[in-house]
Amino acid sequence: MSKIIPVFIPHAGCPHQCIFCNQRTISGQKESGINAAREQIEKYAVWTKLSAGNELAFYGGSFTALPFEFQEELLKLAMEYRIKGLIGKIRVSTRPDYINSPVLALLKQYGVKTVELGAQSLDDSVLAKAERGHTGAQVAEAVKLLKAEGFIVGMQFMVGLPAQDWSSVKKTLQQAIELRPDIARIYPLLVVRGTALAKSYAEGEYKPLTIEEAVEQSFYLYEGLTQAGVKVIRIGLQPDKELCQEGNILAGPFHPSFGELVKSYGYKIVVQKQIDALPGGAYEITITHPPKLASIVRGMHKANVKAWEADGKVKIKFKEGQEFQTNIVCLAGQNTI
Ligand code: SF4
Repeated sequence: MSKIIPVFIPHAGCPHQCIFCNQRTISGQKESGINAAREQIEKYAVWTKLSAGNELAFYGGSFTALPFEFQEELLKLAMEYRIKGLIGKIRVSTRPDYINSPVLALLKQYGVKTVELGAQSLDDSVLAKAERGHTGAQVAEAVKLLKAEGFIVGMQFMVGLPAQDWSSVKKTLQQAIELRPDIARIYPLLVVRGTALAKSYAEGEYKPLTIEEAVEQSFYLYEGLTQAGVKVIRIGLQPDKELCQEGNILAGPFHPSFGELVKSYGYKIVVQKQIDALPGGAYEITITHPPKLASIVRGMHKANVKAWEADGKVKIKFKEGQEFQTNIVCLAGQNTI
């Protein structure tokens, strides 16, 4: 099975710190030099099978904003492991305002296939509040340039940013769909220790989303992107040891299985809409689902089942099958709806 070998270069290249970001806490990696990069790869190399499908990914900083020479040094390091057969592909994550032709030529020269952009939002007022230092138009330009050069393009989005309301999330989704990235990640904003957001939260200026709000907004993005053919490869931060250490997440909608909550919410509303449309009476709903979706369809601790059955109108049964579908029977007349 192909693996991603992550190499964190915390804040390397970032021209400043965005208000919500503390990569050293989020990634657990403190150093961003060449030796630290090599150490991280070596740790993976011990137990990772050589495979051309493996991908080395430079995360946690602004790769293309690094001095040119250091970008090249890191790419040469990656090539070393490509020649050894540990990896076959390279990806980088970076800021949209540091995408230009010379930088892309360098990435191409070293066989980088995928570039992930921290877009977060495409709403200029939200981007300004988050002190991102770039505009939505710059994100669009970067995506277009990357696509024109044949890169696989990733975009990262956030929900819960200061000044980001529902209409802003909706506009961002619409614009993102028009840009047609290949892959996307969705993160709910958390208040992490050592950030400007933590100060704003402590002073009562910033109010995080509740977990329910974050799930609803993330699902909106997930559904819209997926329907537009964008592959959503991650929802919610990786709950690693450093991030989860007491005192690191000060507030916000954190859940170790946030992605599962979001996907589960999708099934919850689909079935709930069907229940709400039923005339009065008693019904049995048989939900067929692929085996791997069992817990997602039922919801965490069967939360979906409890919600569907809450008012006693329906009784839920499950059956394994190839596709998700529902079959509703009216218990009074045994009619299938
Ligand atoms: S969000 Fe990205 S650009 Fe901003 S400080 Fe963090 S790593 Fe750097």
